Amino acid sequence: AKRDAGTSYRFYNRQLHISAGHQIKLEGDLRNALRGNELELYYQPRIDLVTGEVRGVECLIRWNHPTRGLVMPDEFIPAAERSGLIVPIGYWVIEQACERLRESADLGFPGLVFAVNLSFRQFHDRKMTETIFRIIFNANVDTSLLELELTESAMMHDPDYAQRCLRELSQLGISFALDDFGTGYSSLTNLQHLPISLVKIDKSFVQALGQSGDSEHIIRAIISLAHSLQMSVVAEGAETEGQLDFLREQHCDEVQGFYYARPMPWSDLITFLHDRNRL
Ligand code: C2E
Ligand code: CA
Ligand code: CA
Ligand code: CA
Repeated sequence: AKRDAGTSYRFYNRQLHISAGHQIKLEGDLRNALRGNELELYYQPRIDLVTGEVRGVECLIRWNHPTRGLVMPDEFIPAAERSGLIVPIGYWVIEQACERLRESADLGFPGLVFAVNLSFRQFHDRKMTETIFRIIFNANVDTSLLELELTESAMMHDPDYAQRCLRELSQLGISFALDDFGTGYSSLTNLQHLPISLVKIDKSFVQALGQSGDSEHIIRAIISLAHSLQMSVVAEGAETEGQLDFLREQHCDEVQGFYYARPMPWSDLITFLHDRNRL
């Protein structure tokens, strides 16, 4: 389904590289989307490899376009970043995630972690911590259940400022995950002074399991290093039983992948949780 939704929108990407006019059109559409409630979060479960229960969910944005249907983030996040619109969109995502976090506790699933993606571009906003603080204060949620996912490169533009943001937010109880790990340049040891409690192994390594001998070694090394630094590990992109078996043998903590579940709308997630987690 992801592919189908994606291909009908390929023209957005293509035209972005061709004409500034279309970029302006896309940005205008996106601005209206934010105002007009066309954005929606989908939720992909993260499964504990020992208990099989859902430990948390990653919140993934979708755009319900009035005429074009479901648009995937890869088709509009880059434009949102270029235009700076990712800043208000990013705050909307955190607000929405906090609302769902509260709802999940009310529905009998307390302790579920909600992970939200932070774009590098959001670190250009000098009011980031202040604004996030206001959002979670108003939402009145257990901040220890809110996790922000960032990539290594997100912190590169202004490492000192990024570090300060992470410290301030972690003092509020928010935790941080390093996304797409293994694809960047820095090493975990460079990052150990940052308040990062979780590493997400990029799906390219998981999907290369059994095809390239290297990926096994890389995954094994990431898990053992992360654990020695007291970080948990989530493997992304697990689609097969074989990948799962390997990850379990390596004591990977959690798995997020199509094998268990695709990202889904909120109402489907509730059904999934009822089936999966004992109440
Ligand atoms: P990401 O943060 O790496 O998110 C995980 C992506 O991997 C999701 O794609 C998810 O559907 C996909 N995935 C998970 N398991 C599997 C699997 O087993 N097989 C395959 N083939 N794919 C799997 P999605 O939802 O299309 O999101 C793409 C990217 O868009 C995200 O990558 C993230 O970088 C960005 N994104 C999504 N939502 C947001 C948001 O709210 N804010 C920002 N800044 N970026 C977002
Ligand atoms: Ca992510
Ligand atoms: Ca990722
Ligand atoms: Ca990615």
